Amino acid sequence: MKYLKKTDPQIFKAILGEAKRQDEKLELIASENFVSRAIIEAEASVMTNKYAEGYPGRRWYNGCQFIDIAENLAIERAKKLFGAEHVNVQPHSGSQANQAVYFSMLNVGDTVLAMDLRCGGHLTHGHALNFSGKHFNIIPYGVDRTTERLDYDEIRRLAKEARPKMILAGASAYPRIIDFRIFREICDEVGAFLLVDMAHIAGLIACGLHPDPVPEAEFVTTTTHKTLRGPRSGMILCKKQFAKKIDTEVFPGIQGGPLMHVIAAKAVCFKEALKPSFKKYQGQTIKNAKTLSGALSERGYRIVSGGTDNHLLLIDLSDKKITGKDASLMLDKVGIVANKNLIPFDKQNANLTSGLRLGTPALTTRGMKEKEMTDIAELIDIVLRKDTKGLDAVKKKVKRLTRRFPLYKDLMKDLERA
Ligand SMILES: *Cc1c(COP(=O)(O)O)cnc(C)c1O
Repeated sequence: MKYLKKTDPQIFKAILGEAKRQDEKLELIASENFVSRAIIEAEASVMTNKYAEGYPGRRWYNGCQFIDIAENLAIERAKKLFGAEHVNVQPHSGSQANQAVYFSMLNVGDTVLAMDLRCGGHLTHGHALNFSGKHFNIIPYGVDRTTERLDYDEIRRLAKEARPKMILAGASAYPRIIDFRIFREICDEVGAFLLVDMAHIAGLIACGLHPDPVPEAEFVTTTTHKTLRGPRSGMILCKKQFAKKIDTEVFPGIQGGPLMHVIAAKAVCFKEALKPSFKKYQGQTIKNAKTLSGALSERGYRIVSGGTDNHLLLIDLSDKKITGKDASLMLDKVGIVANKNLIPFDKQNANLTSGLRLGTPALTTRGMKEKEMTDIAELIDIVLRKDTKGLDAVKKKVKRLTRRFPLYKDLMKDLERA
C-alpha cells in the first residue's frame, strides 16, 4: 500500500488501524467474517474501472470480454454451490437482492408475511423506515413465547387470515433450524410465493449443514459476506421461469453498473466454498457456537431457545440487571466485540435491548476451536459479572488468544512495511 500511504496518509492510517483492530480483538459479531487474501486481491483489482451494464454477452459498453469471464465464473460456481436453476450475482448487497425480488413480483401495497424484527427479522422484512415497510403491507410473524422457536401453526393461521402474495422466511438473529418445507406447504395452501432470505446461514446451506431452501422457494436471496465468507455483497437464486424478471429488475430496475471487482471476488468466494475444507470450516463454526452456548449456559446465562443449531446464539440478560447495550460496551473495552440485540418479547427498546448476539464464523476462520470457546465464555462472564478486578487479566487473555491465532499475517507485515 505504498501508493496509498503517499497519496492519502489519513486513509492509509485508518486502514492500518482497522487491520490492527481486527487482528487484536475477538470478533463475535454473528454477521461478520474474514475473507481470504485472494478475495481481497480480486476486490482491490482494476475490475473496478469497468462499466458493464447488462449481462455477460449482452452489455451496453464494449470491452467486456474479461469482465464476462469473471461474471460467468461467478454465476456457474454459484449455481453449482447451491444447485440453483438461475443466479444473479449483481446485487450490491443483501438488501438490494431483497428489493429486487419485492419489486419484480409485488405491487406497492401488496401483503407480505415476514419475520417480526423484534423476533429476529431483518430491516428488509418490514422496518417502518425501510422500503419494505414503507411500500408494502407487512404482516409480521414471530416465535412461540415459551419455546422461542418459529410456530408454524401460527404462521399458517396468519397466512390464511392475511392471504399474502409473498411469504418471507429467514432471519438475522434466529439460532434454530428453519423448516423451509413447511413454509412451502403454507405458501401452496394460500397461493403465495416463497422468498427465503438465507443471508446469515448461506455458508451452512452450501455445505448441507442446514436444510436447503433452494428446492422449496421460488426465490432465495443472500449476502455473500456472512457465513459464506466472501466480499460484502448480495446475490439472488431463483427458478428458471423467473430468470428474466429478476435480471430486468436488478438491471435496469434498481441498479446501474455492476461492481465488477466485487463480482470477481464473489467468484473467488464460491470457488473457495466448493472445496472440502469449507465444509470442515462450517462444521467447526457450528460446533464452536454450541460449545460457547453450552459454556455460557453452565455459567448461569439464559440462552434464547435453550441453545443453537447454527452459527449464532442470543444471551438473555434480563435477569442480570444489565442491558444489551451496556454489555456490548463493557465487552468492547476488553477487546471482545459483539452486538446488542432484541430478544423475543423484549421489554427494553431497540436501542437498549435485553440481549447480546454472539456468532462464531469469524473466530472459527482464525482457527479457534472448542477449547477457545470455553475460555471465551469465561472471559465474557468475568466482564458481565462486573468483576472489575478481573478485567486486566481478561485484556491480557484476549491479547494472548489473538496472538495465538493471528489474522492476515503477511498483510499486516506489508502494511507496516509500507
Ligand atoms: C444481513 C442481512 C441482510 C442484508 O444485508 P446487507 O448486505 O447489509 O444489505 C438481509 N437479510 C438478512 C436476513 C440479513 O441478516
